[in-house]
Amino acid sequence: SLKGKTAVITGSNSGIGLGIARELARAGADVVLNSFTDREEDHKLAADLGAEFGVSARYVKADMSKGEECRALIEQAGRCDILVNNAGIQHVEGIESFPPATWDRIIAINLSSAFHTTAAALPKMREAGWGRVINVASAHGLTASPFKSAYVAAKHGVVGFTKVTALETAEEPITANAICPGYVLTPLVEAQIPDQMKVHNMDRETVIREVMLTRQPSKQFATVEQLGGTAVFLCSAAADQITGTTISVDGGWTAL
Ligand code: NAD
Repeated sequence: SLKGKTAVITGSNSGIGLGIARELARAGADVVLNSFTDREEDHKLAADLGAEFGVSARYVKADMSKGEECRALIEQAGRCDILVNNAGIQHVEGIESFPPATWDRIIAINLSSAFHTTAAALPKMREAGWGRVINVASAHGLTASPFKSAYVAAKHGVVGFTKVTALETAEEPITANAICPGYVLTPLVEAQIPDQMKVHNMDRETVIREVMLTRQPSKQFATVEQLGGTAVFLCSAAADQITGTTISVDGGWTAL
């Protein structure tokens, strides 16, 4: 059980971050949810999650594109036994026309935020005598696709940063690993299916198989529950000697 541990999950008011937060809470951890908005529904999401699993849950607004806010998130969390760096954005465009400001923003949110939160969290983990850093990278942290230069560069960077974090904490009861999801069925992805069905004049199953999951040999999406389960495993005693590595949850994508 993760009772007594506090998990901070960046970018967790939807999708994978929320899925990971839910599984950590199910395992007994107190959770701090985060995104850059500060709406009533963000705070309600945390309150409902806390009530559902009988843990303490709160929502802290912080913009992961800003280093100071990344560090402030960890300070406001109080404890930070489990840090999940999940916030991320995407932009699809060729290198020559890729907007430089978008490049900078993707590097800031998808890569640099993990540096800032980790720097702020490690002293807390050392003080507590236990810690887990879990970085949500991607199959694009290990392989590339055209038109995703900033995303692929940031995710490869996250995998490298994870290894350094692991080496700097190697002799302590702290581990750092990256989870590398393939295509995951989040609301964001679900919303693309009807459009793709229209564009390709295909039914739902065919669009998923032939268009969306061309690179995922299992021909199935990974789920946010499976990613949450992977995070819970990385927090277990069985994973005490797993550090500085990646776990792919990609239906065979990186085996191709
Ligand atoms: P999503 O858009 O549902 O979630 C992204 C989260 O990050 C949201 O909660 C959003 O509010 C938050 N966020 C965005 N900008 C932020 C900012 N400036 N500050 C704080 N929070 C911010 O997408 P998702 O699919 O759940 O993606 C989560 C992570 O998983 C990302 O790092 C993404 O790269 C990675 N990933 C997703 C897939 C997939 O197929 N969905 C595959 C591989 C990796």
